[in-house]
Amino acid sequence: LSEIIRHRAWVEIDRAALAHNVRQIKQVLSPQTQLMAVVKADAYGHGAVRVAQAALQAGASWLATATLGEGIELREAGIVAPILLLGAINTPQEVAAIANWKLQPTLCNPQQALIFSETMVELNKVIPVHLKLDTGMSRLGMRWEQALEFVQLVQQLPGLKIASIYSHFATADDPDPTTMQLQHQRFQEAIGQLKAAGIVPPRLHLSNSAATLSDRNLHYDLVRVGLALYGLYPAPHLRSRVDLQPVLQVKARITQVKTIPPGTGVSYGHQFISDREMRIAVVGIGYADGVPRNLSNRMQVLIRGQRVPQIGAITMDQLMLDVSSIPDLQVGEVVTLIGKDGDREISADDWADILGTISWEILCGFKHRLPRVSS
Ligand code: PLP
Repeated sequence: LSEIIRHRAWVEIDRAALAHNVRQIKQVLSPQTQLMAVVKADAYGHGAVRVAQAALQAGASWLATATLGEGIELREAGIVAPILLLGAINTPQEVAAIANWKLQPTLCNPQQALIFSETMVELNKVIPVHLKLDTGMSRLGMRWEQALEFVQLVQQLPGLKIASIYSHFATADDPDPTTMQLQHQRFQEAIGQLKAAGIVPPRLHLSNSAATLSDRNLHYDLVRVGLALYGLYPAPHLRSRVDLQPVLQVKARITQVKTIPPGTGVSYGHQFISDREMRIAVVGIGYADGVPRNLSNRMQVLIRGQRVPQIGAITMDQLMLDVSSIPDLQVGEVVTLIGKDGDREISADDWADILGTISWEILCGFKHRLPRVSS
């Protein structure tokens, strides 16, 4: 079946590259720091179950998802490793499901802590909880100044057992570390207050990929790594720290080739008009697969190791190329949209640069319609 599916367009996942990246990241960690593989958003578009299994096999010991559904998907696949839910949970129904599936929630405020405690008492169970502090991201979490009150409250609530205290950086990919250091300082202050009150948190964590690659002092007991696992660097200045290999490639096939005369409009709106006789090719992939329409007339692809320009508006299921440089191109030949072909490579960073966005968004954008195939 996978051969038949490959006749249109697909995502190729290189498990060896993923294992290599896990090993590279582990090399910068001290032996007591554990690696949490962040596999939310279907492992940044790579396929959560497959990535989680490969990452655990290569040396990760924790997993993180954003949502309850994502956590359940991993458990249904038989994964038994500890799974932290990074998102906020607010209803007793969700709490019961989390407990049943042995997932580990993030608690961000006293209201949530109360809902969890009440539900766990009803279920007659104890759940490990991870307390989130807001040290400057201004997203989820209790502000760091209120850490002591919050932790003391959770400690006295029945049914809850503190498994970790953590925070998240807002600017770890910025070459100027000032804000990251300020957040770290706030985290240290909060932990200092807890310790002064006799509270020793069992586990502390703070770092995403960028912080993990920038500073060993930020590693604590575990690091929560997403992007670097998938072989992309959070920022150019972090490239020298580890050798990462992209895990994902996006490929599609040529479905038709033809010659058009000069002055011919191509695709919706005729945004492209040929200025000469041209050989053009149609490819079976479009914006419904996750190729952003804003790349129209701005992107290139690789065919037979050559760069080829895309022309005209990208449509829902198809896009067109100027293949005048490959006159004998055949229907069925493979087009690499993201990935390597011969000596050339196009990365999610290249698309992100054209679009003024970040590689995280590009990776998460590849739709389920594209089958994930392991190479
Ligand atoms: N930790 C938290 C709380 C996150 O939300 C994320 C992702 O956004 C990560 C860690 C992983 O970040 P990155 O992909 O930059 O490594």
